[in-house]
Amino acid sequence: MRHLLARPGLLVAIFAALVAAVPVFFSNFAVSLMNDVGIASLVALGLVLLTGIGGATSFGQAAFVGIAAYASAWLSTSQGLSPWLGLLFALTLTGISALAIGLLTLRLGGHFLPLSTIAWGLSIAMLFGNVDALGRHTGLSNIPALTIAGWSLADPRAIFYLIWLLVALAFWFAYNLLNSRPGRAIRSLRGGAILLASVGADAYRVRLTLFLTAALMAGLAGWLYAHMNRFVSPSPFDVRASIEYLLMAVVGGLGHIAGALVGAALVLVMKNGLQDVLPLLTQRAGQLEAVTFAVLFILILHFARSGLMGFVRRLARRRPATAPPRPDLAAALPLAHRALPERGTSILSVKAAVKRFGGLVAVNDVSFDVRAGEIVGLIGPNGAGKSTMFNLLTCTAPMTAGQVNFLGHDISGMSQREVARLGLARTFQHVKLRPHMSLLDNVALGAYARTSAGVIRAGLRLDRQQERQVLREAQTQLERIGLGERSHEEAGSLPLGTQRMLEIARALAADPVLLVLDEPAAGLRRKEKMALGELLRKLRDEGVTILIVEHDMEFVMTLVDRLVVMNFGSKLLEGVPSAVRADERVQAAYLGSVV
Ligand code: ADP
Ligand code: MG
Repeated sequence: MRHLLARPGLLVAIFAALVAAVPVFFSNFAVSLMNDVGIASLVALGLVLLTGIGGATSFGQAAFVGIAAYASAWLSTSQGLSPWLGLLFALTLTGISALAIGLLTLRLGGHFLPLSTIAWGLSIAMLFGNVDALGRHTGLSNIPALTIAGWSLADPRAIFYLIWLLVALAFWFAYNLLNSRPGRAIRSLRGGAILLASVGADAYRVRLTLFLTAALMAGLAGWLYAHMNRFVSPSPFDVRASIEYLLMAVVGGLGHIAGALVGAALVLVMKNGLQDVLPLLTQRAGQLEAVTFAVLFILILHFARSGLMGFVRRLARRRPATAPPRPDLAAALPLAHRALPERGTSILSVKAAVKRFGGLVAVNDVSFDVRAGEIVGLIGPNGAGKSTMFNLLTCTAPMTAGQVNFLGHDISGMSQREVARLGLARTFQHVKLRPHMSLLDNVALGAYARTSAGVIRAGLRLDRQQERQVLREAQTQLERIGLGERSHEEAGSLPLGTQRMLEIARALAADPVLLVLDEPAAGLRRKEKMALGELLRKLRDEGVTILIVEHDMEFVMTLVDRLVVMNFGSKLLEGVPSAVRADERVQAAYLGSVV
């Protein structure tokens, strides 16, 4: 078993052979059940991507199944057009609906997003039951079966192959997507919008395209559903159905696309079993079924959050980690580099920056410059205003007054994402890595703005050349920080000091003009600090320009070319380390604070 788990290709091939044999050896009932499983797994796959990996819970996914099912049903019955035109119409309508709903709701934070999915899930299902053209509560019947070149797919054994071909394609698409530029952004959504903005990505747009992708998968399922059952009515698309799809994704395992298939099979087989058994026990079988599923849901959330696939993966992980086979990266062309400004020219210029929080002036009339090729330290005691200054430079917070110029652009009103794309890369005081992504993927995320592959290109594997370039860049940056050998390990397993270095590698993968580090030494042990200092010195020698915002004076003293000292929001002085160390005002400022 474990050997099999280590070879997903073989596992997929065996699974495909088993599936293909089902119509030959099994009863009509089993084939129909498998058809239902295939269709449901498409919806659950969208939910694994959207909810499991992207972190946006949807209680309304069945509505998209319904929109597509009704769209194709209406077109092929009332209008008498081909179901294949129906597919086009169904996906277009699902896409437009998802885009509209997404634009309206995806900016909602916290619990409001899931709540809003219930709202539109309810209202769309209600719509089906109240429109005359859609047959109101009786629905639409006599929907034509699919035909391929005159060959009818009315028999469950015939449509079986189409369903499972589409399932296979959808899972292949999802797998490719996750291992790509947009996929890395999707997998980083849970890390927050600031993390994505720091690599030049727009979390809202990433979430919107993910929402659209998941809705289209549900739409494909809806189209198959309509032409397999040849009949549609509102109830299979209501919120109860949505919750069942979510249950499938959770049972199978939200963190893994195979969980969608496993979950769909488990839930539907169980549901069938219950429908056979419960009527023997009670006359209220329908209600008891709902209760059974509710109990199951709660049990899973309590005891097996990562679902069945989580369990399987833990089994697989007991084996010693081996590096997955990777394409030959050395053969890939390097990504294009930015033209760097000449050593010594001013690249960042802060002029009379002011930041007020109500009555408090956190940054008061501070000016300084950073020139290409140097390491500048911005230091000061706690509360001096360093972090606030950092936020102004990276456009994480708006400035009250003053100006910041970066490479000749006035960046005062820009977004974090725009500044990142100009070539200002940052790290975080509280490390923002994706703990379950490999070191290589974490660093590759940094190159987001240097490449362009979108969801469709990535899903269809048309991005492979660019992807090899990105992975080569990531590998190069990992080697630069001395972690080249460990690229396949998970970032969460590293000690804090190494995580800080990994963040630097991610920042370097963006090919920045300026690297801004937020308190990189905070929380590190002495040895870790020394290693970090050594790395930064090495980078400076290689021509990287660095601005370090730091509380730890000893750490920066031996590292930087120049220091800017802040105290109580104002600039106290600026100079070379030895001059700063000797200055009485600095000593007084540091002694006066709780160090
Ligand atoms: P440092 O990073 O040098 O320790 P900060 O920039 O975090 O200093 O804080 C400078 C001052 O601004 C402090 O007095 C702090 O309380 C205040 N401050 C920082 N952020 C905010 C905020 N979001 N709202 C109100 N006051 C803030
Ligand atoms: Mg701070």
